[in-house]
Amino acid sequence: MALDDTLLPALLDAGLLAETGVRGVYGRSARFEDVLQRFDAYATRELAVEEAELIRFPPVLPRSTIERSGYLKSFPHLAGTVFSYGGDERGHADMLAKVAAGDDWSASQTMTDVVLVPAACYPVYPYVAGGGALPPGGRTIDVASYCFRHEPSDDPARMQSFRMHEHVRIGAPADVEEWQRVWIARGLEILGRLGLAAESAPANDPFFGRGGRMLAANQRAAELKFELLAPIAQSGEGTAIMSVNYHQDHFGSVYDIRTADGEVAHSACLGFGLERVTLALLVRHGLDPDRWPGDVRHELWGEDR
Ligand code: ATP
Ligand code: ZN
Repeated sequence: MALDDTLLPALLDAGLLAETGVRGVYGRSARFEDVLQRFDAYATRELAVEEAELIRFPPVLPRSTIERSGYLKSFPHLAGTVFSYGGDERGHADMLAKVAAGDDWSASQTMTDVVLVPAACYPVYPYVAGGGALPPGGRTIDVASYCFRHEPSDDPARMQSFRMHEHVRIGAPADVEEWQRVWIARGLEILGRLGLAAESAPANDPFFGRGGRMLAANQRAAELKFELLAPIAQSGEGTAIMSVNYHQDHFGSVYDIRTADGEVAHSACLGFGLERVTLALLVRHGLDPDRWPGDVRHELWGEDR
């Protein structure tokens, strides 16, 4: 499969994704979803060694969580905020008239108490903080969610709405640092068994503005973020299909999460981008999963072909 801008049309033609009219927002066909779910089940089996506590949150967060987390400082350009109508009947008629005329109707809307989740792990930190001091070994939490980021693009790997499956480790600094190291290596191995010859590279988040450039440089220099990259689209460069992020004491300080010894807890998370892994598999092995190599099918579907 050519790594150029023909990938999106090829995915649409093959009926794997369906257009909605907005860039980065697609329907997923049964075939696409089957690969994604099979990969998620495979990843879940591989992550089971951690005996993580599973919890699922909806794809919206209390607005107070994002206000407190520092997300709006670093990524105001990616955040999605939910607005709704709270006016009277006259205002409603005004709004409908504007909609019908194709005019801007945003002034009729007011901010609600929820925002869209930007990464599956965001609800975890206030949740863990609410549970009091951590047990001696810390906690490991399994979360998954649709996530939203306002980054419209024609690159099918850069969606506005996509799923992330994460494990979040919260505990003493040395434990969390070791966990990050272990999971970068395991991640490469897990992906490698599916024929995804991923490489790991230090990375940085797309922090906003001039101050953001410094934050990005610091993050990279301290090796706080690693991306596992595989070729997907647009250019020959790899795309992050899994990320391992070490937040140091950021969330521990913000939410006052304490270790059993009373220290501010450190945290890290690993996340598989489920659509991106699916796309990486389709690019690597072809758009028809029935014709994928037997060993890859065996890992995902438990069949020999
Ligand atoms: P990128 O640098 O490519 O924007 P990221 O490093 O910001 O990605 P994280 O914030 O660490 O990504 O998110 C965890 C995982 O979610 C990534 O490894 C990737 O697989 C997936 N992901 C991130 N952004 C998108 C997106 N816009 N569309 C699809 N998957 C995404
Ligand atoms: Zn995370």
